Amino acid sequence: MKWSWKIGRFFGIDVNIHVTFFLMVGWIGLTYWFQENTIVAVVSGVGFLLALFGSVVLHEYGHALTARRFGVKTRDITLYPIGGVARLERIPEKPIEELWVALAGPLVNVVIAAVLFGWLIFTGSFEPIFSSRILWGSFVERLMITNLLLVGFNLIPAFPMDGGRVLRALLALRLDYTVATRVAATIGQGLAFLFGIWGLFSNPFLVFIALFVWVGAANEYRMVRVKYSLNGIPISSAMVTDFDVLDYEDKLYRAAELIMDGSQNDFPVLAGDRVVGILERNDVFRGLREAGGFAYVREIMERDFPIVDAQEMLETVWRRLQECNCQTLPVLHNDRLVGLITLDQVGEFIQLQSSMPGSTAY
Ligand code: ZN
Repeated sequence: MKWSWKIGRFFGIDVNIHVTFFLMVGWIGLTYWFQENTIVAVVSGVGFLLALFGSVVLHEYGHALTARRFGVKTRDITLYPIGGVARLERIPEKPIEELWVALAGPLVNVVIAAVLFGWLIFTGSFEPIFSSRILWGSFVERLMITNLLLVGFNLIPAFPMDGGRVLRALLALRLDYTVATRVAATIGQGLAFLFGIWGLFSNPFLVFIALFVWVGAANEYRMVRVKYSLNGIPISSAMVTDFDVLDYEDKLYRAAELIMDGSQNDFPVLAGDRVVGILERNDVFRGLREAGGFAYVREIMERDFPIVDAQEMLETVWRRLQECNCQTLPVLHNDRLVGLITLDQVGEFIQLQSSMPGSTAY
């Protein structure tokens, strides 16, 4: 079940909206309706929310387009009621690049606030901030203040906020990357703890945010540790060498048979001894639905897929699996198929590695 909808595509990146976002719009609309009882109030309340989320989208594009300059692609941008998420395919390689990518988002909000401030001054409608209440000030002034609040919130030095990444990047300029992440995660969790305690005595919502930050910090550290635990391990020690293959001339029911009686889900498709395609389980089912069992596997298979060399290390392959969103990749040696590497397999390998003595329990 897909819980988000695509609303547009700009600069080659899809923008999605999560279903819970609509709940938020509905809730704001109803709140204004019950308070003011006029359509005007509802429209201005919902309009403000949309303008605010417009700012959030621009913030995410700040990250995504800066990342693109460093050769990192963005899979998509999704809006949730608590903010936006740009899914970068990976973290930029160099700390200085990560620093710029992390700062670019909040910088966009600074620019928006500055433009709005300019507008307010130009039109002579600026009121000193503390005399106008945030909820009832002019539309433009409220939007300016919320953009500044976004900057402040995002720069809290804790994962998964941008400030956490800024902190890690600054530390990583001097320290080893894993150590920098651990220090940044610890600082973030310390802050989350204080936040949580403070929230207990003031606002329960803060406890919720603290929990969110705590989990985010732990995840970030685990991800980085996994990445480095895969370093230096050859692909040959994690690949599957006992597997079935399909022939270019095979029909789809053959693939269905193999799925039914084996533990294999995805198959390399060969023409002679050359790999010409990959047929994943989902494609098999889709093909059976749309074209039936007598369709050729070559009509359904994926022809554009990355290949792995048997000499490669697990870390780069893991990254490639994630980047292409693939389940299975063929491993070649001297152009001959020698193995398969699957996402599940790498996942199991990681679990094994992290349960061995010597790795840091968390
Ligand atoms: Zn951000």
